Amino acid sequence: MKGKNRCVICEKGRVVEGTTNFEYRGVIVPNVPCFRCDNCGNIEFAPETMEYIRKKVNELAPRVILKRKISTAAKKPIVYLPEELMNAARLEIGKDVALYVESSTEKKRRLVIEPLEE
Ligand SMILES: [Zn+2]
Repeated sequence: MKGKNRCVICEKGRVVEGTTNFEYRGVIVPNVPCFRCDNCGNIEFAPETMEYIRKKVNELAPRVILKRKISTAAKKPIVYLPEELMNAARLEIGKDVALYVESSTEKKRRLVIEPLEE
């Protein structure tokens, strides 16, 4: 994707480089490089910019820390995930997640619940 290409949406405008403020669920990433159509205003991002946005949103998102007890259902361990935690982690009911243990040291371990890309 380079500047001066025709817009794929309106097919009239030219796509020029610019910057925009990217907003995702209340988190704003300022001055993100983008390609904008000078006719319809359609905005596109380079793949490396998408990666930058993802990192920034993660960084800027408010952290939610809640204490929970591990309980059981049918003798299996369960942890109830409150809505604010689901929202903060961008998790949705019915979506796939990856579960894994991250250990920086033998003592310090964390269980990660990570949304999987579609
Ligand atoms: Zn356009």
